[in-house]
Amino acid sequence: MKWLQNKNLICPICEEGQLIPNVCTEQTRYKEKTLTVDYESSTCSNCGSEIVTPIQAQSSTYFG
Ligand SMILES: [Zn+2]
Repeated sequence: MKWLQNKNLICPICEEGQLIPNVCTEQTRYKEKTLTVDYESSTCSNCGSEIVTPIQAQSSTYFG
């Protein structure tokens, strides 16, 4: 799987800072199964805003 290059992403809030991607893992129990959901969020290095991109939203809504 190819990931989009997160380099040179400019924060849409302050339009100055650079977005730094973070990978988070969340475990959810569902009918005695444990689902592990990985999602990404990007934090602005300037204003600290947390940005979720469409790709991140897709992966976070995945239900195996
Ligand atoms: Zn910013």
